[in-house]
Amino acid sequence: MSEAIRTTCAYCGVGCGVAASVTGERTVAIAGDPDHPANRGRLCSKGTHLGETVGLEGRLLHPEIGRKRARWDKALDLVAKRFRDTIAQHGPDSIAFYVSGQLLTEDYYVANKLMKGFIGSANIDTNSRLCMSSAVAGHMRAFGEDVVPASYDDLDAADLIILVGSNTAWCHPVVYQRIMAARAARGTKLVVVDPRRTETCEDADLHLAIRPGTDVALFNGLLAHCRETGLIDQAYLSRSVDVPDDFWDGLGEGSDLWSVARTCDVQAADLRRFFDLFAANPRTVTMFSQGVNQSLRGTDQVNAITNVHLATGRIGKPGAAPFSITGQPNAMGGREVGGLASTLAAHMDFAAEHVARVGRFWGTQSVAIKPGLKAVDLFRSIGEGRIKALWVMATNPAVSMPDAGAVREALAACPFVVVSDCIADTDTSRFAHVKLPAAGWGEKDGTVTNSERVISRQRQLFALPGEARPDWWIIKEVGRRMGWVGEFAYDRPVDIYREHARLSAYQNDGKRLFDIGNHGAISNPDYAAMAPWRWGGAPFADGRFSTLSGRAKLVPLKQAPLQAPLSRWPMTLNTGRYRDQWHTMTRTGLSPKLSTHRREPLVDIHPDDAEALTVAEGDLVRVSTPQGESVFRATLNDGQRQGEIFTPIHWTDQQSTGGRTGLLPRSLVDPHSGQPGFKSTPAKIERLSVEWRGFLITREEPGPIKALWATRARVPQGWLFELAGNGDPARLVRQLLPKGEHVETSDAARGQMRHAVVRDGTLRAALYLSRTGSLPARDWLIGQLASAEAPSAIELLAVRPATPAPDRGAIVCVCFDVGMKTITAAIAAQALTSVEAVGAALSAGTNCGSCRPAIQRLIGTVKETAHG
Ligand code: SF4
Repeated sequence: MSEAIRTTCAYCGVGCGVAASVTGERTVAIAGDPDHPANRGRLCSKGTHLGETVGLEGRLLHPEIGRKRARWDKALDLVAKRFRDTIAQHGPDSIAFYVSGQLLTEDYYVANKLMKGFIGSANIDTNSRLCMSSAVAGHMRAFGEDVVPASYDDLDAADLIILVGSNTAWCHPVVYQRIMAARAARGTKLVVVDPRRTETCEDADLHLAIRPGTDVALFNGLLAHCRETGLIDQAYLSRSVDVPDDFWDGLGEGSDLWSVARTCDVQAADLRRFFDLFAANPRTVTMFSQGVNQSLRGTDQVNAITNVHLATGRIGKPGAAPFSITGQPNAMGGREVGGLASTLAAHMDFAAEHVARVGRFWGTQSVAIKPGLKAVDLFRSIGEGRIKALWVMATNPAVSMPDAGAVREALAACPFVVVSDCIADTDTSRFAHVKLPAAGWGEKDGTVTNSERVISRQRQLFALPGEARPDWWIIKEVGRRMGWVGEFAYDRPVDIYREHARLSAYQNDGKRLFDIGNHGAISNPDYAAMAPWRWGGAPFADGRFSTLSGRAKLVPLKQAPLQAPLSRWPMTLNTGRYRDQWHTMTRTGLSPKLSTHRREPLVDIHPDDAEALTVAEGDLVRVSTPQGESVFRATLNDGQRQGEIFTPIHWTDQQSTGGRTGLLPRSLVDPHSGQPGFKSTPAKIERLSVEWRGFLITREEPGPIKALWATRARVPQGWLFELAGNGDPARLVRQLLPKGEHVETSDAARGQMRHAVVRDGTLRAALYLSRTGSLPARDWLIGQLASAEAPSAIELLAVRPATPAPDRGAIVCVCFDVGMKTITAAIAAQALTSVEAVGAALSAGTNCGSCRPAIQRLIGTVKETAHG
């Protein structure tokens, strides 16, 4: 085992430090880095199981032109020539790059420089547009610069933490554990504002399940209450904040307690409690993420939060700040280099002086002079034929964009599509004319910036496999072939980092807080050894902001009218993440451990809605919107508000015949940020009748499965497919089972068929089908795939060992493989009353901690049952 290499997690914007010890050619032992300020040694389930995702399965290992292997030179020359020819014929704006918060800062910098500085268009946008661009726009309106004025240390110092539109327990688990630790140590109060009752609410003092899209009403109401009760910091406002003349008059109407409670659809008593908690705890952090940003009024919702913090002076002090937490590992690095179409570079925009300054620095007169197309408009322009060449880097827009069906049509119609990715076959790369193999996590070398502005090194663990190359190298090679040889003369990431740092300081004179000029001449060894560090110090602590006047701004806001449900589309669709999956599952989908938490895409529906629609737990349902439709399995969840449903964003055509959430949302966006409103799409839901259900457990992946419903999950040594359909399922036996010794049984009366295939003494596959829907538990059978000896035919067909083991239920703790039934049995039998007690009894929740909210909920459920 090598000495541990300090790097960062591949997934979310928490930006945890990882200590990675390479144990073999493509194997690595993962631990949390105790010295990293973001996580202090903790990792969530996704980070903990990074080692399961570093194999070469599914990797793109050589360039392809037209699906045929090609030499790098030929592929790069072709890309450069097609871009040059397209520009010559149609102008620079006929080219677009769509990039990703998965890129390292150095990759991002080179892509942005090539497009905005030399091609001369700002048509480069990033998938971060889908996740946090409303926060960017809100910061710029309020502070004059896109600066997150908080750090995780503020969570330790706060007396009140308000989580808005954030299922932190699932989406930013290590931050959630930090909040829980602060609660345990200091009694920090926690309020969750979210239409859904998620696991984040399990340990909250108060959950406000507001009507979606009423955040402006809520925070305007809070601000009006602060004014009535003397909580406005007049001295701070006079010193540091511009207040528009009619600001307070405009705030009054509809901001009384009762009106706000009505608009937000919450109890007035709960609202009063929220206001009281805010009044009693000046050290307040309001942390927000996608529930705020992914709205048609996302920027206003961000500013409703910043207004409250500015007006009460709760900013620039320890434990007091608005805190936008980002989704992706390097969304912040992308913001710093100007990876959004609406920004230029180093926190500059398209003001003439900025364009001139960046042009001087880069030595070019071709800098784009106006913002480019934001993601939704960019793909719309491709569909309309105005953009004729597209380069997609490290992202999967055919899955993740709203109205993804229209995005696929645009990709299919685009004359030239380049995809650089580490994965060979994605829903997007199927449209590529050229595929370029990029380095993956563990092969890259560079920097990332997390949600709290900490820049960390991501370090290389493995040699580049096949012909894969780092993104920065691929981009600079295209730039050089387009004619800008000296301008893209980088030999290694540190060359790019130094240039990026120098640009941030170039003629800055304190105007922009983003200034990392102290690293403009960093030596190669110092870059190699760089420890995590935070830029910007304690922003706004001196009461000065990045506007020309140095003063922040209160933004007058009105709650937008709420749309009544439409008779044809009576439900509202909300979308989001699962705890143990990441984006389109190209990596997390490879991990058997991570697949145990949710093996299928489910639609969450309130039990009363389900009853009205005659939908039962586990039924297949079709979710439709005006944009498209997809099939999900239903799960009844009284944490949903009535009339609202929730689906996960992760599943792709590679994983499932349904569960395709991206097909459903509208391509409508917030007018300021261009961020799509993923959280509130008019929808309907209907139950699907199926004549049979089944599952296949197999070592070898079969070819395409023709069934109404087929969804795939990784298991140790193989795959689990859940199946359902109509007609005679017997054909699946021929289609899906491999060669070997077949054992089978069928029971026509019960409508059951069970087949298993044994070869060389080991179980190769098992297919179980039922016309009644009644199927055995899968776990024991899955375990047999990894066994050196196949069970007996009797055991296989009975789906249990001769000596039955207890049913563990659905896995809750993926680190220690502890199931729900095991936990509830222990809680009841041993009278366990805390997560710690469950951990002591079963180890569950004692490693990454991601399942602790779920254990907390099980304790509550057992208690309720006992008293019920
Ligand atoms: S919270 Fe989890 S997914 Fe996010 S960076 Fe940390 S370990 Fe990775």
